[in-house]
Amino acid sequence: MKTLVIEDSASSLAILCHQIERIGIQAIPAAGGMAGIELFLAERPDLILLDIVLPDIDGFEVARSIRQLERPGDWTPIIFLTALNNDEDLEKGIAAGGDDYLYKPASEIVLSAKIRAMQRILQMRQSLLVATRKLDSANQELRRLTSLDGLTGIANRRHFDEILDREWRRTMRQGGELSILMCDIDYFKKYNDHYGHQDGDECLRLVAQALNEAMERGGDLLARYGGEEFIAALPDTSPGGALFIAERMRRAVADLKLPHAGSPCGHITASFGIASTLPAADGSARALVGSADRALYQAKLEGKNRVCRAVSLETPVA
Ligand code: GH3
Ligand code: MG
Ligand code: MG
Ligand code: MG
Repeated sequence: MKTLVIEDSASSLAILCHQIERIGIQAIPAAGGMAGIELFLAERPDLILLDIVLPDIDGFEVARSIRQLERPGDWTPIIFLTALNNDEDLEKGIAAGGDDYLYKPASEIVLSAKIRAMQRILQMRQSLLVATRKLDSANQELRRLTSLDGLTGIANRRHFDEILDREWRRTMRQGGELSILMCDIDYFKKYNDHYGHQDGDECLRLVAQALNEAMERGGDLLARYGGEEFIAALPDTSPGGALFIAERMRRAVADLKLPHAGSPCGHITASFGIASTLPAADGSARALVGSADRALYQAKLEGKNRVCRAVSLETPVA
């Protein structure tokens, strides 16, 4: 622990420093206000004893400067040194950023008691800061976890709906296209029936990963929408762009070559539906998802393992 002592009377300064060193604390003497501020910056002490009447700038000014020079989140206790019977100075000192006061000349007992009290507050504040930091990171982790799907590690539906809502409003403000892509694994019930749920789960993880890797833009978001259904929001993406991504995803899933005895292809495949729109007040994100879902249904009807797009660039009505 380091204590900065700012006091212009050489004898008082020497006595105070001596008393502080006797308590086992390092004392840094400063004979004036400016010197005190410079030493504060150079030494970053844990505590400051600050005289009010100083030859260059007064103690109030020094306290105000020190409060401004503190790093964000830092706090250095300031104890003002004041002459007896000067309550107004004392009040001004606290207003300028001081935390406590000592009447001069200070007795060694009072000085050490005050320093110990300040040390205790500092330690409590430190523990509080540590606890707050831990709580912040726990909250951050919690937020992250509540937005993820437990099985696949990609976003969950709740998070997707939130982001889609935001994207819809953003695109409406800024103009541009928004595409939605829906994906559903083909013959997945048969896969589970044949290989068991554990293999089914592993398949879902691998498909999610393959789909995710097929997207390139930071703004794209893939989520698990239901059991073996996935959904992607592709901001600022034209129908052609969405088709390109969906085809790439379809190939990525097929290229996993996960054996599937119950599929005509002999391996896992997926079907895709895409829809795009220019978000406007008379449309809705929900309606756009509905269009993509109908396109997906069409892909299933047409024989699966394919991409179908909703009719033209539409502005769905809510
Ligand atoms: P289609 O080709 O038309 O899509 O048929 P399908 O069998 O894939 O579709 P259906 O909706 O009939 O079945 C979906 C199956 O997905 C039902 C269930 O066995 C499986 N499923 C859903 N969620 C999970 C999950 O979390 N883990 C596993 N292992 N299977 C799941
Ligand atoms: Mg003085
Ligand atoms: Mg399904
Ligand atoms: Mg399916």
